[in-house]
Amino acid sequence: MTRWAWGVSTYYTGRLHVLVPRTPNGVCGLPVQQIYPHRPPAPPLCPECALELVARLFPASQGPA
Ligand SMILES: [Zn+2]
Repeated sequence: MTRWAWGVSTYYTGRLHVLVPRTPNGVCGLPVQQIYPHRPPAPPLCPECALELVARLFPASQGPA
């Protein structure tokens, strides 16, 4: 089971990114420097990470809907 982590880039601190642990980038691809094991209350989620996380948690079906 994947254990997600959270991170903030020091270059742009306005968004919280989603991380696969032991990787230096958010799932959106942006490098992060500050990493948290649990989701902090701020800043708001990176929209690109949110979309990518949903796609990873709910993979597209191979068959008809
Ligand atoms: Zn992101």
